[in-house]
Amino acid sequence: MSKTMSMNAGSSSLKWQLYEMPAETVIAKGIVERIGLKDSIFTVKYGDGEKFEKVIDIPNHDLAVQMLLDELINLGILKEFKEITGVGHRIVAGGEYFKESVIVSDAVLEKIEELSELAPLHNPANAAGIRAFKKVLPDITSVAVFDTAFHSTMPEVNYRYGIPKEYYDKYKARKYGAHGTSHQYVANRAAEIIGKPVDELKLITAHIGNGASITAVRYGQSVDTSMGFTPLAGVMMGTRSGDIDPSLFPYLMKKTGITDVNDMLDILNKKSGLLGVSGISSDMRDVIDAKKEGNQDAALAFEIFTDRIRKYIAQYFAVLNGADAVIFTAGIGENSNAVRSSVIDGMSWFGMKIDESKNVVGADGIISTPDSKVKVLVVPTDEELVIARDVERLKRMG
Ligand code: ADP
Repeated sequence: MSKTMSMNAGSSSLKWQLYEMPAETVIAKGIVERIGLKDSIFTVKYGDGEKFEKVIDIPNHDLAVQMLLDELINLGILKEFKEITGVGHRIVAGGEYFKESVIVSDAVLEKIEELSELAPLHNPANAAGIRAFKKVLPDITSVAVFDTAFHSTMPEVNYRYGIPKEYYDKYKARKYGAHGTSHQYVANRAAEIIGKPVDELKLITAHIGNGASITAVRYGQSVDTSMGFTPLAGVMMGTRSGDIDPSLFPYLMKKTGITDVNDMLDILNKKSGLLGVSGISSDMRDVIDAKKEGNQDAALAFEIFTDRIRKYIAQYFAVLNGADAVIFTAGIGENSNAVRSSVIDGMSWFGMKIDESKNVVGADGIISTPDSKVKVLVVPTDEELVIARDVERLKRMG
């Protein structure tokens, strides 16, 4: 038995989960928030519902990792560092270069940093996480798992934009997508639940969390996905606008007096979506509560949110020329029966019918009626587990 760490480094956060492998049991998990800011929050959950929390300034990812490893010893979760034999890192952008998970070499790390152009906020943080871990534990197997890899099977017709060809040739301006690990995991799980090989199924996977994307999966491979060059595109999300007419960019900059295009992008990434439309919160629970209290803006935010999901699902029925099942996952997809009902009830023409007695909070599996032509499922995602499994697989391959 050995322990594998699954890491997800964001620009100011570090989420991690420690597994006993190959048993796949989670021994501890936690998050470091507000890295680089005052009063960083360091949380560990372990053992029998035990929780450790500390508020302390953590200036960078290096120190966050060092502190995490030290605390694993202090809390008695590890006796010595070398019990951890592998670490997997979630990397947001793999570009056209990484089509699957790889063991991190110096060249791989360099390439990840080079790809920062595609994910300026994320890849540098991901690389910092890798370096930080390598510093403390230089000899363990370190694996990079890419959010974009699953979408590398998209055909050109779906990943190319209707812009001059040279922008693709010279600058690789194309759709890359995201949430690949999640879409892949739930597609495979759904096939198991349905009881058919994934390579005989056409599936539409809806990862609806704070970030959200929909993917068309044909015979186990991603053929189209709603996020684009970056995760800003596609459906409306917690704080991201999703698709908008790019002409709004110069127009809004002129009207608001914003002069830096990055400030405008920041508004579309961080102040739009549920938050922007409702004016209340990016959190779906708050939006639903406000809607129940009669808040019109919250009601509209909910409507736009579900409408955009419906439209993407409808598109993918066309891309796949029909589908066997629609799968909901992630924070909202797994937990909000209201969102699931709204999306599916509004497109019953496509042959989908939810069994409301199965569409409960905490649902797991098929939630459609037996006569529903297209099945509807809830499948809890587990990106951390996919990462840990990839570490194990690549470690064995050596
Ligand atoms: P992230 O993209 O940050 O990983 P998650 O997948 O954790 O996001 O999803 C977070 C979203 O899930 C939030 O909008 C939250 O309100 C929503 N959510 C969690 N539980 C519920 C629930 N019971 N009902 C509705 N929404 C929920």
